[in-house]
Amino acid sequence: MKSQPGNRLRAAQAADRHWPQPTALVDHVSARVPRLLLVDDDRLHLKSLSALLRAAGYEATPVDSACGAMQKLQGSEFDLVLLDLRMPGQGGNAVMEHIQTASVDVAVIVVSGESRIDAAIGALRRRADDFVRKPYLPADLLRSIEHTLQRRRLLIENRSMAQQLEHSERLYRHLVDSSPDMIYMLDAQGRFTFVNDRFESLLGIERDSLIGRHYSSVIQDDDLPAARYVFHERRVGDRAARNVELRLRPLSLLPAQPDASSGFKTLLFNSVAMYGPTMPLEGGGASTYGGTYGVARDLTERKRAEERISHQAYHDILTDLPNRILFRDRLEVAMLQAMRSGCELAVMFIDLDRFKMVNDTLGHLLGDDLLKEAASRLKDVLRAGDTLARLGGDEFIIMLPRLGSREDAAVVARKILECLQFPFVLAEHEVRISASIGISVYPVHGTTIDQLLAHADIAMYRVKADGKNGHCFFRADMLDASQYKLSLDRGLRLALERGELEMFYQPQIDVRTGRIIGAEGLMRWRHPDRGLLTASEFLPFAEEVGLIVPISDWMLETVCRDLSEWTALGADDVTLAINLSPQYLERGDFVRKLVEAQGRWGFAMSRIEVEITENVSIRNPQHVIDQLNMLCRLGVSVAIDDFGTGYASLAYLHRFPIRTVKIDQSFVREILHAQGHCPVVLAIISMATGLGMNVIAEGVETTEESAYLEQAGCPRMQGFLFYSALANAEFMSLLAEQTAGRRPASWHGHHRSGGQGRLLFES
Ligand code: C2E
Ligand code: CA
Ligand code: CA
Repeated sequence: MKSQPGNRLRAAQAADRHWPQPTALVDHVSARVPRLLLVDDDRLHLKSLSALLRAAGYEATPVDSACGAMQKLQGSEFDLVLLDLRMPGQGGNAVMEHIQTASVDVAVIVVSGESRIDAAIGALRRRADDFVRKPYLPADLLRSIEHTLQRRRLLIENRSMAQQLEHSERLYRHLVDSSPDMIYMLDAQGRFTFVNDRFESLLGIERDSLIGRHYSSVIQDDDLPAARYVFHERRVGDRAARNVELRLRPLSLLPAQPDASSGFKTLLFNSVAMYGPTMPLEGGGASTYGGTYGVARDLTERKRAEERISHQAYHDILTDLPNRILFRDRLEVAMLQAMRSGCELAVMFIDLDRFKMVNDTLGHLLGDDLLKEAASRLKDVLRAGDTLARLGGDEFIIMLPRLGSREDAAVVARKILECLQFPFVLAEHEVRISASIGISVYPVHGTTIDQLLAHADIAMYRVKADGKNGHCFFRADMLDASQYKLSLDRGLRLALERGELEMFYQPQIDVRTGRIIGAEGLMRWRHPDRGLLTASEFLPFAEEVGLIVPISDWMLETVCRDLSEWTALGADDVTLAINLSPQYLERGDFVRKLVEAQGRWGFAMSRIEVEITENVSIRNPQHVIDQLNMLCRLGVSVAIDDFGTGYASLAYLHRFPIRTVKIDQSFVREILHAQGHCPVVLAIISMATGLGMNVIAEGVETTEESAYLEQAGCPRMQGFLFYSALANAEFMSLLAEQTAGRRPASWHGHHRSGGQGRLLFES
């Protein structure tokens, strides 16, 4: 039997008219033998068809009714159905409808005796893949089967390819949109044709409203010339525009914002030219310029970080003031200007007095707060052109350019001292500090930066040595003194070994009787070159360099020895006041050492009075309170030194077992200015006596002071009006006179009242 062309209608109108060569029958997609479902009510036909197909290598499942076919299709997967149309009961069309409605993925070849053309068309409309008319040549049927299966394979491959494409398209989209960088495309006129999501979040406007917009609406005006270079790039490859920084307007819908630097984002652009559909360029033909595309990276954070870093390189972190480097820069510029204009300029070195103590007693955090507050007060004193810098620690430096006269600098210095006078409130503490200010003037005190700084520093040290809280200009004769300071550290270490330290005693008087009732031990250093140095000239330094503990050990031993000598003279009612460094009380093991010294020298503990300052260890008050209580139990009394100048509140003082209050020199000095009424002194005296404490005034230099103190109820005094500190031998001869029943020799020979005061007691 020969096949006729009319017998077979092709469903596929595809161009491919060549039958595929029957290669391996194995389905490439599923990698298995194709499964065919044979549906025909003619069992005989079914049987021979099965045999034919199996012989051809297919898996064939025969079924003799539409119903059975639908059941089979439900249960297992087939690749192809060979379907008879006319069957008793439901026909082949019902099967095809089922395939469509239930979306069964299977190809269908109608194998039918139907000769009407509309039957074939109807079958193909129902999406049959081919139509083979019975009777057929087996070869024709097999070819149709092979062809249909081949098309099905292609279809499946296509479908999965399309899926892959869609997936990879989605992947690229995702990569582009979630890129940390901005990706954009501009047309030849410079209008956005594509931007990724990052643009949206960065600029705060929607992607769609950016499309079609010209780049100049988002770039800051100043950067437009540079932008032109990037966005009209016509070169490709290595020569294309790279790494151009442009600043974007944030809400580009708004016109350029007046506050320029604030909201701008800085982006780093790379751009590449695009050329239209690649045309053959032979013969000099040009391809069309299509615009640019590229990547932009947000540099805003990095820019800010860079700014921060460079700010930090020139500023002090704590106070945000210029640091030494920036100060030197500015000083250099100002010196040049001063030189040209023939002006003077001033450099001021400021050191906060007592800062170290605050830091040690209240801790570094509050110390930092104090520095910040001090810095802001200093700033308020200065004018716009002045520079205030922090050199570190509690050292500040100021430059005043264009000095009208030197008095201008002095005025500023006084204002600074004034502004620091008010107490600083740190947590619950009220702290008082002052400052020592040294001033050097360009060009008279130096013509280089280093000279000016060094000389201002030296002048500052002079203020410190002279009792702090003041200012002074540099003088050439200060240079010697500063050399000496350098050698102090080494010298002080040797002083102990060489026995250059001595204890002096300043008598304490009861003016009602004129008797010496006690003495305060004051340390002196008999310096090999500089002569006799007072405690204030070297002890603060000893505290700083950590020599105070060994020096205090020596002091304790010496005063105990001297006290036992006084007793031997018969002066067994004279008390001894010793000054205790806070450091010594905190970690010097003082109580044990005192007890041991008593064992060696044998004296009554009641004759010892320990002087502490108000601010003694506020950081660890419990430890100090314990120590002071132990001293109390031993019979030692405690005096508050420099009362009223520290920063402990009165309430706080109640926690310490205090016997005596020493009225500070500064209050005694107020008596002279007060013209007969000095409420602070009265208040201290009445408070102390009211609490059952002793009170003694120190630094009494004039008879006016002494008279006022006595009538105010404070007859115990100490000061140059009576005696300065005396060497032990000298002090003992006074004691000897007193115990012999005589009033001690007149205070003539000892007082240093500078002519101010008349002597009260003369024998
Ligand atoms: P301070 O305890 O307030 O001592 C009083 C200071 O005033 C002493 O200075 C004394 O010489 C001086 N002075 C006494 N009377 C007058 C006067 O009428 N007018 C004037 N203007 N000054 C007078 P100095 O000896 O330089 O002692 C300074 C500080 O050094 C003392 O202040 C004390 O805190 C400390 N200090 C002295 N000796 C020792 C010591 O042995 N150990 C310890 N840890 N500290 C000591
Ligand atoms: Ca004292
Ligand atoms: Ca004092």
